[in-house]
Amino acid sequence: MADKNIMHIDLDTFYVSVERKMDARLKNKPLLVGGTSDRGVVAACSYETRGYGVHSGMSMKLARQLCPEAIVIRGNAGTYSKHSDEVTEIIKEQTPLFEKSSIDEFYADLTGIDKFHGCYKLASEVRSKIIKETGLPISFGLSINKVVSKIATGEAKPNNQLMIEHGHEKQFMAPLSIKKIPQVGDKTYQTLRHLGVRRIHTIQEMSEEMLINVLGKNGSLIWRRAQGVDNRPVIAFNERQSISTERTFDNDTIDVKKLKSILIAMTENLAYQLRRGDKLTACINVKIKYSDFNTYSKQMRIPFCSADHILIPKILDLFDKLYNRRILVRLIGIRFSHLVSGHYQINLFEDDESALNLYSALDKIREKYGDRMVVKAAGMEAKTIGRMVNPFNGLPPVVLAHRKQ
Ligand SMILES: [Mg+2]
Repeated sequence: MADKNIMHIDLDTFYVSVERKMDARLKNKPLLVGGTSDRGVVAACSYETRGYGVHSGMSMKLARQLCPEAIVIRGNAGTYSKHSDEVTEIIKEQTPLFEKSSIDEFYADLTGIDKFHGCYKLASEVRSKIIKETGLPISFGLSINKVVSKIATGEAKPNNQLMIEHGHEKQFMAPLSIKKIPQVGDKTYQTLRHLGVRRIHTIQEMSEEMLINVLGKNGSLIWRRAQGVDNRPVIAFNERQSISTERTFDNDTIDVKKLKSILIAMTENLAYQLRRGDKLTACINVKIKYSDFNTYSKQMRIPFCSADHILIPKILDLFDKLYNRRILVRLIGIRFSHLVSGHYQINLFEDDESALNLYSALDKIREKYGDRMVVKAAGMEAKTIGRMVNPFNGLPPVVLAHRKQ
């Protein structure tokens, strides 16, 4: 199989960069973006704060104590979504095949573009164009596969680029910390550190069996990644990728209260599926089929989101605009599309840690007892919310299929 050329692209401290673009006075100053109350959470922090031990996910209170001179800004999901779209458009124009893996991260498959150095030229041009047209700093890594390129991007940062020549993958990774392998989480890191493993080099020298003995089946994956092996393809970003649910009524209904109650339950369920798969949606759709079999649907672009309390009013609003024939309804359905990876924290800038903890607690209950255990009182009337298949193309929902990723 011919070697591939995969580019990994990552916007540097994305939320911080967008804030600085909008207000140049924030440049070179220590900056925290997130919930601004003492109980808020840091969603992003500038490089200037890192030396103080600040990192994203930390409570805003602690971050302020560690770095008292930091400027604190409340994030805005709408603004970041807009800038993410601009970058996406440029990458779409410039590369033959790309995957949007999160709001600020992309992979592009440049295989077939001339020779390797032709790829490096193209990758550099894409980066320059993004910097020029959006004013946002961005880094890339280029190599034969996703994992090596992602690690290369990390080494290139901030605002730089790095190409790993074919055949040099192991050598490039050897001196790096095992923490740089994306599949090594906190727990795996601690396990390996207790065994005295610190550098990727040590894993490269171990046998695959030995790592499987220590880490279980995840050991095999991590061993292969440490060797610079990764066969995952770049999956074309498709705005039509979606999850959806629908409900056909045994008896056609005109009971609006019941219809809304079902929509709420459906939204909660799909939003939970998004969070479980660490996904966000940027487009929502409501569909109604009337008793005469005529079907209507209405959709709306929204800032990247997976939080019920934001999605539910928007879904109900779409329904109100759509449901105007006042005749019996045979089926209702909702669909979330424009899916990317991302954490629901993006929707909680204005809220405090307790809101974040509430989502996480509710999702844990759903995980343990099934996803109908927790429903809002308004959704209680919906006893079943229908099958989890895509009413638009008949395929199973994307997030369910990929939730193990
Ligand atoms: Mg980034």
